[in-house]
Amino acid sequence: MGLLPATERQKKGQQISCIQCGICCTKGGAALHGEDLLLLRQRLIPRQDLITIRRGEFAYNPLTDKAQATKAEIVKLGGTGREWTCCYYDPLTKRCSIYKKRPLACRTLKCWNPEESLALVETDLLSRLDILEEEESLQELVRTHNSTCPLPDFTSLPLALQEDTERTVAELEALINRDLHFRNKAVDDSVLVGKEEMFLFGRPLFQVVQSFDLHVFQSGNCLRLQWRRKT
Ligand code: SF4
Ligand code: SF4
Repeated sequence: MGLLPATERQKKGQQISCIQCGICCTKGGAALHGEDLLLLRQRLIPRQDLITIRRGEFAYNPLTDKAQATKAEIVKLGGTGREWTCCYYDPLTKRCSIYKKRPLACRTLKCWNPEESLALVETDLLSRLDILEEEESLQELVRTHNSTCPLPDFTSLPLALQEDTERTVAELEALINRDLHFRNKAVDDSVLVGKEEMFLFGRPLFQVVQSFDLHVFQSGNCLRLQWRRKT
């Protein structure tokens, strides 16, 4: 659920309520907060509909109005296929299929008056371990993935690619292959993990690095990277 720049109507104070255009739902699913835990406990929102943005991954921050490394893990409603549009949004009817049970961030959003939504950003976020509080084996799997396949420092990555391309690309290649191997093994070991992969491990690292001008290609059994240096 994306906070949007103010439209001309909003700037002139002509919009004072939701006109149900659905645009906010096409900008990504809502981040989950402590209050939303009940929706998960009651299985109104299944974990397979969630995606995790791991701490340090780049994401749009409405407080700064730019993409930057996240300071905390964010678990949010997943998108549809390769799109970020919330999986509960129906573009034909422009309706939310869980409207009466939608998460806190959705209930709070007033695009014409975003103060309340902005106050929610980075506060009381639900983490994977919060959600998995009674499932120790899955908690352990998440911890092991975090320690075995840590995210690179994305803030310093552009400079590292400029200054030491060969070493940086080689390190990233090792990391994306380790991440993929870890996921494949976990999914082979458990059907449940396969359905909840995006929640348990976040987006595969080979997808995440592509926003840093890195082209991914297959070579034998491995993934390789090629950095497209900007001229
Ligand atoms: S909150 Fe704003 S962007 Fe979202 S549906 Fe309502 S009018 Fe559209
Ligand atoms: S849960 Fe409903 S209101 Fe919230 S982002 Fe998804 S479609 Fe929109």
